[in-house]
This record gives sequence, structure tokens and C-alpha cells, in this order.
Amino acid sequence: MADDQPPPASSPTPGLDRVARALSGARHVCVLTGAGISAESGIPTFRDALTGLWENFRPEELASPEAFEQDPAFVWKWYEWRRELVRRAEPNPGHHALAELARRVPRLTLVTQNVDGLHQRAGSTGVIEYHGNILRDRCVVEQVVADRSRDVGGELPRCASCGGLLRPDVVWFGEAIPRDALLRADAGAADCDVFLSIGTSSLVYPAAGLADEARRRGAFVAEINKDATDLSSRVHAVVRGPSGELLPELLRRLGP
Ligand SMILES: [Zn+2]
Repeated sequence: MADDQPPPASSPTPGLDRVARALSGARHVCVLTGAGISAESGIPTFRDALTGLWENFRPEELASPEAFEQDPAFVWKWYEWRRELVRRAEPNPGHHALAELARRVPRLTLVTQNVDGLHQRAGSTGVIEYHGNILRDRCVVEQVVADRSRDVGGELPRCASCGGLLRPDVVWFGEAIPRDALLRADAGAADCDVFLSIGTSSLVYPAAGLADEARRRGAFVAEINKDATDLSSRVHAVVRGPSGELLPELLRRLGP
């Protein structure tokens, strides 16, 4: 499918020029971001977060409904640590460039697999959070985003309205993508004329299927990532390198 060879890592120029040309005529751009763009802000990937104190645990032992049911305090401990990393991180030039891109094209749909809220902090609006947001709490009884009760002691956070247990508002192993996010992301991929896959390994479905859906509907599909992925051979342009450098450069080539 790829109608050009991926450029060598040292020369991302040809791919970027092709992406810039596609963007300059785009009516609707759909962007999917993954862990790579947040890693450039110092946020460890899910697997990289299994270090130090946590290195002997499998992800399913920390991020599944079963693990939470068995030992909510333990699961919360891991999430509080990860929340602290997120709070300390700042959006990088890649996040800012995507917020700016939304102002330069008629329409942009931004779908992220990241749970850190860095796109919003960079100024992006209407972000579709495929896997939720680690900084939000959700009540396990009411299944809605909830505030914490102020007057309950103990080690577990409780819902301000019903007193039920709170959990991080993220998608765990064995759980479905929130329906609203799924539908909005599908609609964006189906309708766009340019699709950008940025900083994602393109291994985790259903997110990984969005690029194929966009291509099937006739969109120009580009991958911006440090490494080759399963998707690389099925896109129109591949640009290798850090999104924090490539996306600002893309904006420069796009012009005002
Ligand atoms: Zn509640």
C-alpha cells in the first residue's frame, strides 16, 4: 500500500512535505495519539511504569476490575504514584503543535489513547479520551465521574454523593472502551480526508483499526513515530522521529 519508501531516520523531510501538502488541502483531519507523545513529556508508558516497587507485578494485577475488587488500596497506591508523575509533567511542543493545527484546518478530531490530559493542558478541545483520564475519579456504584467526599476518613477515596468507592476513570484490562469515545472516534476516522497516527505502536485494537478505516474511506494516512510499526506498510507517508520535533516542523511547512 505504501507508495513511497520510508525515508531514513536522519532525513524526515520528504515524508513531512507530503503530510504538509495533504494537510493544506484537508477539510477534516483526524489524529490518533499514543504513549510516544507523552513519553516525550517524561510520562512512562504503561509497561515502563512497572518499575521499582512495581516491577514484580503484571499489568493485570494492577489495572483490572478483579485486582481492584481484591485490593483497592493496593491498586490506588499504583495510581496515586502515576498521577503524581502526570501532575509533574508538562505538555511538550508536539502537544502544542496539535492544538495549533486545530486552529489551522477547517476541522480536527483528536483521539488519544493517553490518560494524562496533556492535550487539553496544551489547549486542545473536544479531545476524545479512548482510555479515560487518570486524573478523574469514577464512582463504582453510580458509574459516573464523581467528586471525592471531604468528610470520610480511611485510606480509600469515597464518592461525595453516594459514599461508594471511587476508582480511577480509566479503561482497565477486560473493560470496554467508553461507548461515546468509540462512536466519536469511528465517526472521525470515517469522515476525515487526512489521518495522522502519532506516537502509537498500532498494536492495540480497536484504536489501531482507525487508520485502516480512514484509508478504506479514501483518506491520506500518515504515521509519525520513532519506530516502524505494523501500520507502517499500510500508510501513504511515514515520518520517523520524535513528534515533539516533527509536529512543530510540520506546522512551519504548512505555513500560516
Ligand atoms: Zn457515587
